[in-house]
Amino acid sequence: VDQPLVIETRGLTKRYGTRAAVDDVDLHVAQGDRYGFLGPNGSGKTTMVRMLLGLVFATRGEIRVLGHEVPKEVHRVLPRIGAMVEGPAAYGHLSGRANLDLLDASGPGPRTGRRRRVGEAMERVGLGGVDRRPVRTYSLGMRQRLGLAGALLSRPDLLVLDEPTNGLDPHGIREIRELLIELNHEGTTVFLSSHLLAEIEALCTTVGVVDRGALVLEKPLDDVRRSTGRVVLSTPDA
Ligand code: ATP
Repeated sequence: VDQPLVIETRGLTKRYGTRAAVDDVDLHVAQGDRYGFLGPNGSGKTTMVRMLLGLVFATRGEIRVLGHEVPKEVHRVLPRIGAMVEGPAAYGHLSGRANLDLLDASGPGPRTGRRRRVGEAMERVGLGGVDRRPVRTYSLGMRQRLGLAGALLSRPDLLVLDEPTNGLDPHGIREIRELLIELNHEGTTVFLSSHLLAEIEALCTTVGVVDRGALVLEKPLDDVRRSTGRVVLSTPDA
């Protein structure tokens, strides 16, 4: 049985001047997917992710996320999404834990149970042992994981991640991948962007390939593997 769609766009377009950063995209992310949005730098991934979160308004087209229209009903959607959209912003002079406390306090969740939520999220991303250290002493990888911990605080149904392993060393990359797969097995739908085919092959169940803003392929990864050789991923260097 087909799973319901968690993200669906129709004719989604974002123009900057005459140039379309996202060009007439029909996206289909089913519940339970690990969906990899693959494209080279400048192909429109970030713009797409930001539109899904209601941070950038479309020029044309429709977006439904978790059954709601975005951006109109984004207030209903955001409490159920964990997002990591750019180099994670954190207060360097505060500990990782204090940063998450702040985030949790400003989020939509209940005020009770914050200590536990924050502690769990830190453990989950492997920062349990350094949670009292100021973030300025964290490596880039640790900051990235802190960003992911922030996205997990609300126990989201859907994770939306823009290049989540950017800047991580191989060990950190493996950890994040394992964590995302684990969360997915617990029921979280994962949407992530990447410019690395290998990343998406290692991590995802479905791939959407974007080329100059247009979605040129959207398939279960197994189907892509079966027809490898015929699939040409155009990835001009940016
Ligand atoms: P990267 O991985 O480098 O972030 P990307 O695939 O995420 O690339 P976008 O950042 O979405 O791509 O950019 C897609 C296109 O839209 C690029 O040509 C970019 O220059 C353009 N663009 C993005 N944001 C704006 C903006 N605010 N104003 C004008 N042009 C923009």
